[in-house]
Amino acid sequence: MNLAVLTHNDFISPGRVLLRARRHQHLTKILKVVPGVTVPVGQLNGLIGEGTVVRVDDTEVELDVTLHTPPPAALPLSLILAMPQPKMLRRVLQTMAALGVKDIWLINAYKVEKSFWQTPWLQEAQLEENLILGLEQAKDTRLPVVHVRQRFKPFVEDELPQLLQERPGFVAHPGTSRPCPSHLNQPATLCIGPEGGFIPYEVEKLEEAGCSAVHLGSRILRVETAVPVLIGRLYDSCLG
Ligand code: SAH
Repeated sequence: MNLAVLTHNDFISPGRVLLRARRHQHLTKILKVVPGVTVPVGQLNGLIGEGTVVRVDDTEVELDVTLHTPPPAALPLSLILAMPQPKMLRRVLQTMAALGVKDIWLINAYKVEKSFWQTPWLQEAQLEENLILGLEQAKDTRLPVVHVRQRFKPFVEDELPQLLQERPGFVAHPGTSRPCPSHLNQPATLCIGPEGGFIPYEVEKLEEAGCSAVHLGSRILRVETAVPVLIGRLYDSCLG
């Protein structure tokens, strides 16, 4: 946690917050804060600033908060991801949030196991928790929006074309002839397949909708690795 993301529930009065549980643990056990120390904070979907510790006890840290600076720029990328298995979903949500992705689409594909859709990690509170962990890692406050689409064809035919208007779209697919582009300086849409990959019909449908199939070389990466490698390849994120 490089910045504590504050929600409405944390405020006990304007400019005063009480942090408990995970954030209390982090502040006391890892950062070992004492009264007078200042830590980075930011309001969910709002400004970033500092919190000065005014009180610490066994369960709470009370902070006096000043907020003044906008969060970092968002990545102009819509990321369409075939629903991964639950433990990978958690990690990938955190990674996408940390990398500045704000528009996430979780879609079905032939090789997505039906049981993946039953995971509690898809519940709104759990999605938010994991996205906030990513924001806190990267010192951001703007919560990504997650769209869940359990039917592949209606998504690709009815919604994907809107995500490809006036911007390029890519489907990451090993073995295609076009290398993934780099140094993009415009919005884009990127589709990433499930652990078993997209089947040829799905790649065709994504191409029909306007996506270009691109590859990252001969090494097949796990989804959780492919996501940051593809994003880092497409955008010069270290400059942002
Ligand atoms: N066995 C599958 C691999 C799936 S890897 C196949 O051969 O298609 C999971 C997803 O990560 C892929 O669908 C793709 O979107 C992305 N990916 C992983 N390695 C990649 C590579 N070298 N090039 C392009 N995409 C890759």
